[in-house]
Order: sequence, then C-alpha cells, then structure tokens
Amino acid sequence: MSKNAHWVIPGHVEARDGRLLFAGHDAAALLAAHGSPLYLLSAKRIIDTVQRFKATAAAAPLPVTICYASKACSAIAVLKLLNDEAISIEVNSAGELFRAKTAGFPPDRIIFNGVAKSAEELLSALDPPIKAINIDSIFELKRLVSIARGVGKVARISLRIVPNVQSSTSAGNQTGAESTKFGILLRELPEAMTLLRDSADCLVLVGIHAHVGSQIGSVAPYQKAAQMLVSVKAEVEAAFGVELEHLNIGGGFPIPYMRGANETPQDDIFAPAIDMDGVVQDVVASLAKALPGKTEIIVEPGRSLVGDAGILLSTVENIKERLSEPWLVLDAGYNVLVESYTYKWYYHALSATKLNEDEKPFRVAGPLCDNGDAFFDVEGETTVRKLIEAEPTLEANRALLESTLIRMPPTRSLAASTGPGDCIAFLDCGAYVLDQMTPNNSRQRPECGLIDLEGNYRTLRGRDSLEDLLFKEVL
Ligand SMILES: *Cc1c(COP(=O)(O)O)cnc(C)c1O
Repeated sequence: MSKNAHWVIPGHVEARDGRLLFAGHDAAALLAAHGSPLYLLSAKRIIDTVQRFKATAAAAPLPVTICYASKACSAIAVLKLLNDEAISIEVNSAGELFRAKTAGFPPDRIIFNGVAKSAEELLSALDPPIKAINIDSIFELKRLVSIARGVGKVARISLRIVPNVQSSTSAGNQTGAESTKFGILLRELPEAMTLLRDSADCLVLVGIHAHVGSQIGSVAPYQKAAQMLVSVKAEVEAAFGVELEHLNIGGGFPIPYMRGANETPQDDIFAPAIDMDGVVQDVVASLAKALPGKTEIIVEPGRSLVGDAGILLSTVENIKERLSEPWLVLDAGYNVLVESYTYKWYYHALSATKLNEDEKPFRVAGPLCDNGDAFFDVEGETTVRKLIEAEPTLEANRALLESTLIRMPPTRSLAASTGPGDCIAFLDCGAYVLDQMTPNNSRQRPECGLIDLEGNYRTLRGRDSLEDLLFKEVL
C-alpha cells in the first residue's frame, strides 16, 4: 500500500511525486497563484457524485427524488451544476430560496424547510407555489393558512414529523428527537389534521417529512424514521381519503472524514461504515414493501453530495515548541473552517508538497487571537484534565472520558520537516465551509475557486479586499 493510499480518491485528490494534486492541478501551485488561504471545489467530483446518486435512485424500487440541501454549499456555480443535472433543491431561508431561483431551479423542484420561517419567507414560497413547504409546527401551520388565504394562493405542504430517534452523531447534529427544536410531535398530529381539514381552500397536503440529523453513522435511525413516515401516511390518508404524493426521509448521509491515518477519539462519527447509496438502497427497499403504491421518496443529501469535493489550502506562518511538542500556526483557523470550532469537526490535514516524507505529530493551530482556535479540542482536553485533577480515581476511566469529551485528536501527523511557508491541505471541506466563513479578527475571507468541468480554474468568490471588511459599515 502506498503511503498516501488512505486518502487518495482517484482522479480527484491524488499524490504525484510527493505533491498533492486536486482535480489534476498541483495544489501548492494553485495556492501560490491565487493567494493564501485558498478554498477549492471540484465540479467534476460534484457531478460524479450526483451521477452516482442518480444511478442509485434509478435502481430503487420506488421513484426517488434527490433534493440537494443547499445549505451545505450554496455557491451559484455549484447550484447551476446541480440544476443542469435536473435534481431538486432544499432551501432553509428566503436567501437560499433566492439563490436556488437565481441558479435557475424551477419552483416545482424546490422544497422549503426551516424552524423559524417568517411570514415574509412563507409568502415568498407561495407565488409561484414550490414543490413543498415543510411545516415545522402547529403555529407555523396556522401562520401559513392566514398568509395563503390572505393572498388567495394554495400552498403545497408536507408535515415535518419528529421521528423520535437518537443517533451516534454529535449533539449539535441531532435533529430527530423530541429534545430538539425541530418538527411536529406525533401527539400534535390530530391538531394538525383538524387544521388541515378546515383549510382545504388554501393548503394541500402532499407529503410527510422527517430529517434525523447530519453525519448519521448507521441505517437504523433512517429505518425507524421511515416506519414512522409510513404509519403517519396511512393515518393521514385514512382520515382525508386522499393519497399523498411523497415521503421525505431527509438527509444526513455521512462521509468518511478520518481518512485512515490519524485516530480521532470519536471514530464512530468521523469514520462511518455506511454511505448515502447504502442507506437509500436499504430504506427504499423497506418502504417499497410497506407501501401499497408507487409513492415518490425524497432524499435531501447535503454533506454527502459535496463534502469530499472541496479542500482548503493554508500556509504555515509560525512554528514554536510548547510542552516538548512542535506547534504549527496556520493562516486559516475557525474563521475559515467554522465547524472545526462549533462542532470540533475533524478535517484530515496533509503537508501538500511533502507527501513522501516520514511524518511526525504536530499540534496545529489557527491565526485567531483566542486559544480555542486550534485543530485539536482545547475545551475537551481541558475538561478531562480538570475532572481527573478534581477526582484522581477517574484516571482509571480516562479512555472513556476522552472518547466522550474530546472530539479531535490532540496532534496531526504531518511530514516531519513541515514548517513556515509550507502548504497544509485540509480534505473534505466541501460541505458547511464556504457559506460559513467569517471575517473574524478582520481577516479577509479567502478566495474560493472552482476547477470547472473543462479542468480550468475559475474564481467563484474573490478574496475579500480590505475595503470589503467595511462592507455596509457606517463610517
Ligand atoms: C441540513 C439538512 C439536510 C442535509 O443534511 P446533510 O447532513 O448535509 O445531508 C437535509 N434536510 C434538512 C431538513 C436539513 O436541515
């Protein structure tokens, strides 16, 4: 096995002569040409993945509609690529609806989710009516009735039901339990049905929806949610004497972040044993057995569609020795990889020009003025240390404490000679990165580039200028 085999994706991220290739381009050369940090997406990888998903959908025993969760990466160029593939799109705000429409998605291929849809947002989804507004509460149902009635429009709606499933993902990525803020509880269903019965002039119920969370590591939560959708569908259809168009099993399909080389304390999150294709095969097979007709099944992949299509390149700006360990300080931290802080998310890192070198462990940190800006779990490590200091007998349970409280590995294995000026690549940054970058510490948001289908580099969003940092500020 070659040294780099654990992270290579042929034709996408590869090693040549010890250097990282991204979509056929030398990564460090792109960084030198376009400035550091540099965020990159591959159009080919996105298209390859969507085509693989479409083949899985086409082979399923029920019609499956792929509805891309656009919050994962909503750059117009990416949305245009997906619109050209004729898939559908899921939006979570008026802004995402605006982006979807700007990219050319027709209303009948748009679904609107969200826990806090304003009256204005609901109105924007009525004219022309979109494929479905996924109703998140009894209150929202009433709000939509009054808005739709007021403008004389008919809304196509789906009910987002809480399937009451727990899964092994991080707490911040759970969405399918009563302890979260999402959806309508099963016990609220009778009230929803009464409201629907009284609102036939302005609402048409077309589906039932559930979304169990993100980076879900096993099929069981999906199967459980699917069973719940089947029984709610039967209940609603019996009550209304209608047939629903669709069941929506949501998104959350995981991708492997760990890439084999490092160990993370919470491997079950970052090294899942399943993928979107496997889940869809299993769940749609169960649904086909449980449902009498040819109900449309909607899936809402976000992360799994774009997650491995993006990388972040960054430069080492400083090196020091702390507690007998070498520390590297990069020019990108959680201002660029926001979820490395909010969810302590693990992105695999490589020394992009030294892939053939032997590796050694480094502590890796970002440029921001707070100690938490690090690619290890400062909070988790500190909590474990404090607990053991306060109660020394806990030392016997250190492994349990670490695997529960620490999300990222303390060090990263990188080429032993890595130092200032070197290019560090973070893999699998395609999802939940571009849309979340901030100008924290007045650091300019980086240039974002796309390697297009012809293999050419093109700018998706230019690097912030210093003047951009003052955008909308009243001087
Ligand atoms: C975020 C979200 C998704 C996508 O989740 P991924 O983990 O990125 O697949 C799908 N559906 C809904 C309702 C969401 O909020």
